[in-house]
Amino acid sequence: MNPACPFCKIISGELPASIVYKDELVTAFRDIHPVAPTHILVVPNKHIQSVSQVETEDEHILGRLFSVARKVAEIDQITAGGYRAIVNTGPHSGQTVFHLHMHVIGGQHLKFPMG
Ligand code: 5GP
Ligand code: ZN
Repeated sequence: MNPACPFCKIISGELPASIVYKDELVTAFRDIHPVAPTHILVVPNKHIQSVSQVETEDEHILGRLFSVARKVAEIDQITAGGYRAIVNTGPHSGQTVFHLHMHVIGGQHLKFPMG
């Protein structure tokens, strides 16, 4: 828990959010500024700043991020249409919240290419 981190505050319940799913390792909630009909953030309950701070001991958490991405896609019924799972990392990516998170974005045809 980092007391200055908005996602830690959402995980602890100090800051409100539209929670889609929560378990002992990860929390999923709707992005406050959605870019598509479905825009859910899946975050580890542990404060990890970004992919660049991931440790080998965190591997089980990263696996859970993907299985919960699948789960929330099923909850929002976007599996058949497909979706994008994005993890921004560091300044060039535009990462603005330094608590690792996976964006699950779908529900419409998404623009491509990226970058
Ligand atoms: P990043 O650019 O770091 O990959 O994405 C951060 C995302 O977090 C943005 O899409 C932004 O809208 C979302 N976000 C930032 N603060 C909050 C918040 O307090 N609540 C929620 N639900 N989303 C937030
Ligand atoms: Zn945090």
